[in-house]
Amino acid sequence: MAHTETDPAAEPIQNVDPAEIEKFSALASRWWDPNSEFKPLHVINPLRLAWIKSLINPSDSSTALNGKRIVDVGCGGGILAEAMALDGADVTGIDLADKSLTVAKLHSLESGVRVNYRKISAEKLAVEQSEQYDVVACMEMLEHVPNPASVVQACSELVKPGGWLFFSTLNRNPKSYLFAIIGAEYVLKLLPKGTHQWEAFIKPSELAEACRAAGLEIVAFKGMTYNPFSKTYKLGQDTSVNYMVGARKAAR
Ligand code: SAH
Repeated sequence: MAHTETDPAAEPIQNVDPAEIEKFSALASRWWDPNSEFKPLHVINPLRLAWIKSLINPSDSSTALNGKRIVDVGCGGGILAEAMALDGADVTGIDLADKSLTVAKLHSLESGVRVNYRKISAEKLAVEQSEQYDVVACMEMLEHVPNPASVVQACSELVKPGGWLFFSTLNRNPKSYLFAIIGAEYVLKLLPKGTHQWEAFIKPSELAEACRAAGLEIVAFKGMTYNPFSKTYKLGQDTSVNYMVGARKAAR
């Protein structure tokens, strides 16, 4: 469509905080070090993957991702993207941090797990590939963007009717300030100081509203809790700090 190239008003607005991208770029070399700043993502990865698969195909989760076209929005170094590809999905990973994408591509070459990585925003990809995906994953990313509802809307545009969407983020309340900022960054040092801005955390009701506004139906919420003594995460009903949402776009 030629007119989109000459008409800046037709370009989707830039929904990105350069300081957030810089934060992840600075750590990029360590994406695949399981003992690095990204350790929590490595530890939760099997849990969130299992949950995604169990929702998509409750009767046989082992084949749930087989042949599925998936886009991983804010894929970082590709921790989830590669795991989904290993499960038989055709995965595209998008992010806006060059260095993370370089690391992701190198790791994919090394592991032999094929993922198509691209530097593009969800909003722009939605214009280019409307309703092309069976599944959209957008994990631990919404709390880093200026306008999370716009990302949710773009994710909804990317998914086929009847397709699945998975979001994860952090809840905003006094407990999440204590656990996710003070606890995780200052006391337990699970994450570097300044990883998260508490003000940008998203209440489940706000994420639900963004989903509804984007024409999505929420299927399930799942909480993720960290036990500092056993140093393990587990999934459950407690959505007060970390949580995930599974949603679907209505079939036509
Ligand atoms: N989803 C991955 C990585 C989470 S870290 C996982 O859960 O394992 C958050 C990621 O979001 C970083 O890679 C960061 O570069 C990316 N990000 C931040 N703002 C973004 C934006 N506006 N568009 C795309 N990616 C963004």
